[in-house]
Amino acid sequence: MSKGFNIKGKGLIVVISGPSGTGKDTVIGEILKENDDICMSISATTRDPRAYEKDGGNYHFLSEESFKEVVKKGKMLEYARYCGNYYGTLSDFVGQKIESGVDVILKIEVNGARQIRENCPDAVHIFILPPSIKELQERLKSRKTETKESFEQRFGLASQEMALAADYDYIVVNKDRSACARDIWNIICAEKLRTSRIKNRTDHIIKEVLYNG
Ligand code: 5GP
Repeated sequence: MSKGFNIKGKGLIVVISGPSGTGKDTVIGEILKENDDICMSISATTRDPRAYEKDGGNYHFLSEESFKEVVKKGKMLEYARYCGNYYGTLSDFVGQKIESGVDVILKIEVNGARQIRENCPDAVHIFILPPSIKELQERLKSRKTETKESFEQRFGLASQEMALAADYDYIVVNKDRSACARDIWNIICAEKLRTSRIKNRTDHIIKEVLYNG
C-alpha cells in the first residue's frame, strides 16, 4: 500500500460509499456535471467490464496478476476484495489531483474506506443510503447488469455495509437523485471551509488584527 496524503490547503479527498444499487454513480455524475475542480478517481479492478464500460474510462480493467503487481509496487492508496474481485485506488492519480488543488471523489466500498480513514485522516467520508431495503432491491434488479448470483451476493452484502454507515462523517439518503447530489455538494463546500483546512490562508488576516487592532 502507498503512503497516505496530508491534504491541508490542497484538494479534498471525498470518500463516497453505499451498497450496490444505491445510485452512487448517478449522483456522482450529477455533481461532476455541475462543478469544475472536482473529479472522480478511476479505480483499478479485476472485474469483467460491463457492456457499456470503457477501459480507462469507468475503470482500469486489470488481470489479477497485474493488479497484485500494482499493489506490490506500493501504488494503491487502498484496495479490497468485493464479491470475488479486487478493486483499488491508484495513488498517483489521486496524489497529482489533490496536489494541484482538485478535489477527488473515491467511490469505494467500506473496507477501502476504512483504509483511507487510517491513511488519509483529512478525507471526508459520506455514506449514501437507499430510502429502504425494498427500493434498493428494486433498483439493483432493474439495473440488469448483474447475474442472479451476483445480484444475490451484492444484495446480501448490503446490510453488512449499511451497518457501517455510522462510521462515516455524513449519511445522505438517496430518495431523489438531484437532492442527494445537492446535499453531497453542500457537504463538500462546508468541508472546504473547515477551520483546520483554511487556517494557513486566514492566519495572516487574524495576525493583522492582533498586531494593529
Ligand atoms: P461495481 O462492480 O458495481 O462497479 O463496484 C462494486 C463495489 O466496489 C462498489 O461498492 C464500488 O463503490 C466499489 N469500488 C469501486 N472502486 C473501488 C476501489 O477502488 N476500491 C474499493 N475499495 N472499492 C471500490
